[in-house]
Amino acid sequence: MSADVAPVHVLILGGTTEARRLAEALAGAGVGSAPDARPADSPVPAPSAVPSAAPSAAPEAIRYRVTTSLAGRVAAPVLPPGETRIGGFGGPSGLAAWITTHRVTHLVDATHPFAERMSFNASEAAALSGIPLLALRRPGWTPEPGDDWTFVDSLEEAAGRLPGLGTRAFLTTGRMGLHTFAGLTDTWFLVRSVDPPAPPVPPRLEVLLARGPFTLDDERELLARHRIDVLVTKDSGGSATAPKLTAAREAGIPVVVVRRPPVPAGVAETGSVEAVRTWLRTSR
Ligand code: NAP
Repeated sequence: MSADVAPVHVLILGGTTEARRLAEALAGAGVGSAPDARPADSPVPAPSAVPSAAPSAAPEAIRYRVTTSLAGRVAAPVLPPGETRIGGFGGPSGLAAWITTHRVTHLVDATHPFAERMSFNASEAAALSGIPLLALRRPGWTPEPGDDWTFVDSLEEAAGRLPGLGTRAFLTTGRMGLHTFAGLTDTWFLVRSVDPPAPPVPPRLEVLLARGPFTLDDERELLARHRIDVLVTKDSGGSATAPKLTAAREAGIPVVVVRRPPVPAGVAETGSVEAVRTWLRTSR
């Protein structure tokens, strides 16, 4: 590689399926020299509109260095291809310092739609370090005919609405916010998470340790076996619908859906890995 060209170093803020898919897609694009990389001292364009994801017939010219960052919440994470680092950066300034030290050229915020703090940090750090940022977010869910969904803005609001909707709740909002439901003594909860939750937790609770994806048959069986009469979920999104939502519709079970927070102001957003690759080719 010539000494005066900077390789394209993509930092993916991960912990999601989308982040993994992006790392896999970029790893598949190869490693090594970057024949059309921008000169090391050339300015980096500011974040702008996301280019269309029209696939190109031309072979991938850029070769990427890819680092995925994980928060370290899961005890045994499934690591994506490429380089990985684990643990917080120490706020926006820490992330900006990491970006500078490791010569990151592009930042992709592929964290979960509810990882609001990290998305804010990413926005601040990109501005501080002067590199482009793109948010990769799976699309949210929308109700279909037959769905009985109640939208709320927070876990606190979900906890407030729950007693009026059912007595045996399947809580799929993750183990971190479980304390929010700890005061609901009359509701029985089934909680599914990868790692065990820490107290405080609701007093009437069964924990199911499991890692998705789950099939429609899995979800049907779970709802029936535990006589679930209300489902609580974040609008995590993903495929057009989720098996748990389909199973709830089939069983006529109401669903409490926690709305996702918006991406920080001024940050461009896409739902497509291919659009990120297009952005990487054009934002240099
Ligand atoms: P958060 O509240 O937005 O972030 C809290 C702090 O965790 C951040 O300030 C940052 O610490 C650190 N952090 C978060 N994501 C990180 C990453 N990818 N790499 C390095 N540090 C990270 O985040 P959260 O909601 O706790 O989610 C943590 C992780 O779990 C995220 O990676 C997210 O994609 C994943 N996840 C979250 C959910 C959810 O429902 N929230 C669901 C599935 C997966 P510093 O300030 O020290 O840098």
